[in-house]
Amino acid sequence: MSTLEIRDLHVSVEGENGPVQILHGVNLTVNTSETHAIMGPNGSGKSTLAYALAGHPKYTVTSGSVTLDGEDVLDMTVDERARAGLFLAMQYPVEVPGVSVSNFLRSAKTAIDGEAPKLRTWVKDVKNAMENLRIDENFAERELNTGFSGGEKKRHEILQLELLNPTFAVLDETDSGLDIDALRIVSDGVNRFTSGGDKGVMLITHYTRILRYIKPDHVHVFIAGRIAEEGGPELAEKLEEHGYEGYVGASA
Ligand code: ADP
Ligand code: MG
Ligand code: MG
Repeated sequence: MSTLEIRDLHVSVEGENGPVQILHGVNLTVNTSETHAIMGPNGSGKSTLAYALAGHPKYTVTSGSVTLDGEDVLDMTVDERARAGLFLAMQYPVEVPGVSVSNFLRSAKTAIDGEAPKLRTWVKDVKNAMENLRIDENFAERELNTGFSGGEKKRHEILQLELLNPTFAVLDETDSGLDIDALRIVSDGVNRFTSGGDKGVMLITHYTRILRYIKPDHVHVFIAGRIAEEGGPELAEKLEEHGYEGYVGASA
């Protein structure tokens, strides 16, 4: 078993008039075999948590810790985080002209595994993963993130998940911008990823919709940069009914 442990995490972001404190002490432990839903209104700091875990340069951890099996994640470079088994889709958010999806996936796989994947099995794996996600084969030759639609970005995220096979995945708003068919395909991908029982997932979402397809073991409600409530799947049902009203500091 592996454990990702977030302790009393405080994070600030570089704003126009200097740093702004966004996270005010987040505690969260994710073990492999667990799916945690992180839910909360817009602006509550969910993405800030994801960016901080990803090591985004604009986000500064002002105190607290993040460890993976006791190893200091915050001390790791972005590449080291990936090699340690953390998958953060927004690690590579930029458009990269000239780099195809196919080349990107292969270099990422090589970087993470420390050796290039065997070409024959790799080509087959990519083909299978793309078929699973109903991604057109031409997509592999597209330039990375260039002109991707919302849905393509999300499928590409799950394609990476399937092929890079990390231990922990942080998925931020994987459901946004997906129609119902795409939502099901993407959810199936996440469920395939967790089916072996040896993966940990943090599923960040504003809406409860995706939780009809991906069943979280734990639900955390994020309000104003802190976890305001924690519970099991029944908490998601409560949120579906009542939204975030009733939480102090919830603005949306
Ligand atoms: P969520 O993902 O829950 O919608 P975010 O983490 O994106 O929330 O944002 C949390 C808060 O941080 C918001 O109030 C937002 O305005 C603020 N914020 C995020 N990025 C920046 C930035 N670059 N500069 C200033 N404030 C920011
Ligand atoms: Mg937001
Ligand atoms: Mg967000």
